[in-house]
Amino acid sequence: MKLDGMHHITMITGDAERNVEFYADVLGLRLVKQTVNFDAPEAYHLYFGDEAGSPGSILTWFEFAGAHRGRPGAGMIHTIQLGVASENSLDFWAERLAARGYASERGGRAMSFEDYDGLRFALVVADDGNPPLRAWHPEVPAEHAILGVEGARAYVARGAEADRDLLTGALGFEQAGDGEYRLTGDTRRFRWGYDTTSQRGFSGAGTVHHIAWHSRDEDHVAWQERVAQAGMQVTPVIDRDYFLSIYFRQPQGILFEIATTSPGFAVDEDPDRLGEALRLPKQHEHLRPMLERHLTPLTNPRIAVRQEA
Ligand code: ZN
Repeated sequence: MKLDGMHHITMITGDAERNVEFYADVLGLRLVKQTVNFDAPEAYHLYFGDEAGSPGSILTWFEFAGAHRGRPGAGMIHTIQLGVASENSLDFWAERLAARGYASERGGRAMSFEDYDGLRFALVVADDGNPPLRAWHPEVPAEHAILGVEGARAYVARGAEADRDLLTGALGFEQAGDGEYRLTGDTRRFRWGYDTTSQRGFSGAGTVHHIAWHSRDEDHVAWQERVAQAGMQVTPVIDRDYFLSIYFRQPQGILFEIATTSPGFAVDEDPDRLGEALRLPKQHEHLRPMLERHLTPLTNPRIAVRQEA
């Protein structure tokens, strides 16, 4: 039984309109779902990814409108690594970001930048073992498109060894040195790194809420048992409409989720029209009139592109 790399990473933003503008336009990802937070239905939950919304490409945000910026500290992810095909692509992205008013910094085979909330990213040349998970955007040539999430780095207070047993024992990561672990699944790989800090963080706009690892559907209950056997307080299986999930806070304080492949984002929308209309969890459907008045209207840029075509 293996985890197949990462499923999605979820963040907090203070501004859903800028979120769609930055990720679906500047970075050229596809907005694959507009929905609301299960536990706080007055807040958007927006999902971005490749054309199909494949696990491994998914970045999601809870919008808490007007939220103040947070700061990553111990127990929080501080940088997300996105894959591109080559070092030439780093030049393309440096220019595109600059043209939209975002600074970037080149360091060897990587380039770093921050989004409008101060969330930090690194573009890296993608691992050969990761099949490309591209979205299509009219201004981003396919050879430069973002190819999925390659890795993430988190701040920890107790060093990279403190959760080694959980990672390498129960979850099947391998230790790669330099505070880094690798997760090698059947179809995707992921780099998971730690930097030690004593700084306390606080959640808010531009911070990461949790990371989800990808389980085969048939293994999900077995993962729940294995995580419990490893001494973690794990939740029951929760139906998130687009996948099933379990959650636990691992020993460094980072919230981990394990999510299934199915049913995926096409379960309630035509695959050609993903993310174009507000979809509500069944239990919140009765709130639609109130939510449609209250939530900032968002336009998936894909609608305009299709109308021009
Ligand atoms: Zn999640």
